Amino acid sequence: IIEVQQLRKSFGSLEVLKQVTFNVNPGEAVAVIGPSGSGKSTMLRSLVHLEEVNGGSIIIQGKPLVWDGKYAGGAEVKQITAAMGMVFQHFNLFPHLTVRGNLELAPRTLKRESVKAITARSMDLLRKVGLEDKAEVYPSLLSGGQKQRVAIARALMLNPDILLFDEPTSALDPELTGEVLRVIRQLAEENMTMIVVTHEMNFARDVADRVIFMDNGEIAESGTPEQLFGNPQLARTRAFLQRE
Ligand code: ATP
Ligand code: MG
Repeated sequence: IIEVQQLRKSFGSLEVLKQVTFNVNPGEAVAVIGPSGSGKSTMLRSLVHLEEVNGGSIIIQGKPLVWDGKYAGGAEVKQITAAMGMVFQHFNLFPHLTVRGNLELAPRTLKRESVKAITARSMDLLRKVGLEDKAEVYPSLLSGGQKQRVAIARALMLNPDILLFDEPTSALDPELTGEVLRVIRQLAEENMTMIVVTHEMNFARDVADRVIFMDNGEIAESGTPEQLFGNPQLARTRAFLQRE
């Protein structure tokens, strides 16, 4: 469902992604781990066209977003990236909108369905993340864990086929990470296709079908959680896992 081939990205003279190649299959949950600055966020952001790469290919559901460094046309880029929802470390909720307003903004702007249908779905999704009683509340009154659950529900509003998470729990107090990880785990159990960049090694071990270790702009090692955590092949993987 996602094919990334020899992806390259530089900021000035700094090479951040060096020939990154990997696939994600439909229904798979892939965890991405690795040291700070290794290129994890840049890789995710490239998939949804928040960054433009300098070379390589990204193919989403068989459609090339970038092919050998050349981007598809604007309308096509929009259509291809619409298959993906993204959840950020810092929630990025709109403070002037209620929880329900945050969920409904994008679908209401698109005007593809009735307001009634949109509201029905936003209430369904708030129930799914355990926040139906917060629908009319503003984000400033929520805990970090609640905000992140709202952000996940919002990402689901446009029915994405793929969800990308960039360190969804790193901005949370430790006691609030569990409620967010539970929601992501439930999505994995429902066979949502997802890439989760995370520092939560136990979560990666329990929930991911596959784990990718990024280091210094490249995929150093990847495998099942059993392989990567139980029997890492490289010294740098072992060193990273010992630090975490
Ligand atoms: P972290 O675990 O800290 O989130 P990361 O693996 O997500 O790290 P990236 O955010 O992808 O790493 O950054 C990779 C490198 O690219 C870093 O050296 C970073 O400073 C650099 N970088 C990222 N964004 C930009 C930018 N807009 N301009 C210049 N350099 C950038
Ligand atoms: Mg990052």
